[in-house]
Amino acid sequence: MIHLDGSTGEGGGQILRTALGLSLVTGQPFSITNIRASRKKPGLMRQHLTAVRAAAEIGDADLSGDAIGSSTLSFIPKALRGGNYSFSIGTAGSCTLVFQAILPGLLMADKPTELVIEGGTHNPHAPPFDFLTRTFLPLIARMGVKVDAQLVRPGFFPAGGGKVAFSISPTSTLKPIELLDLPETTTTAQAVSSKLPEHIGRRELQTIQSKLHLNDNQLENLQLDSYGPGNVVSIFVESKMLTETFTGFGEKNVSAEKVAMRVARQAGHYLETGAPVGPYLADQLLIPMALAGSGCFRTGSPSNHTLTNISTIQNFIDVHFDVSEKADKSYEIRVFK
Ligand code: AMP
Repeated sequence: MIHLDGSTGEGGGQILRTALGLSLVTGQPFSITNIRASRKKPGLMRQHLTAVRAAAEIGDADLSGDAIGSSTLSFIPKALRGGNYSFSIGTAGSCTLVFQAILPGLLMADKPTELVIEGGTHNPHAPPFDFLTRTFLPLIARMGVKVDAQLVRPGFFPAGGGKVAFSISPTSTLKPIELLDLPETTTTAQAVSSKLPEHIGRRELQTIQSKLHLNDNQLENLQLDSYGPGNVVSIFVESKMLTETFTGFGEKNVSAEKVAMRVARQAGHYLETGAPVGPYLADQLLIPMALAGSGCFRTGSPSNHTLTNISTIQNFIDVHFDVSEKADKSYEIRVFK
């Protein structure tokens, strides 16, 4: 049994999600204490509990401590099975974070999976749906696993009510990838709003246009239909190597211009650094790269999430991570056996 302390490093939900995913793949049971100890509301929230129960169903696991607010959990998987699954968070908790927890298992399951997750699809502090489809999943496809994701209905915080459908064709071995250079890039921006006035997206795009010097044909203002109101604005930086996605989340009492400036700054910083992998993608690539047993990428200064994920992964998989600073102040992260 692997024992984890959920308060180490970043102290958030990622420690639990990484443990669930890698316990599914490797069959190693784990227990965890101090779950999400560094968060304002520590312990298992509905989204984490859904991830735990989803992983337990997929891995036929014995569970204890699976209750709202619980700060300890033990997870003993018995058999990993692909198939048809449907999970509902019941709040605006993030569908993509539940997906993040179970994906490692489903990538390497015995058969394909059809999966539906209901909850939030564009949540702050979680990968938004477009990050998944434009940034993360194309890289997973290059590693040998085809994952289709369809936005059946968007769900914004706090109303939720979103729905995502996934089809996953697994593999027994993942191929290593290298993401070291950032070739010539094209930048586009997209505002998505639901049940909010059209001018919100328009003002966000105008702000990004002037900050990043984009043409009108690089901007798109979309209206979708969801249960509750919501708005996100995304900047996509596309190159031959990959597409990076940066997202700003519309907030009550925060102007559209401010939301747009925040995301424009993130994209501007990425372009200045010249490293192909942004901070969120960096922590999310570590698990597939560890499962491949090899691979490397260049990124900015590694976040606490990235460093914490490295040490969580090493509890389950016998791989090394070399994190080294380059002369241009970017970092190369290399995974090897
Ligand atoms: P935690 O804070 O431990 O619950 O982990 C949050 C997860 O969401 C990490 O894997 C982050 O990389 C990811 N994440 C947070 N914000 C974004 C964003 N704007 N775009 C993509 N991924 C994100």
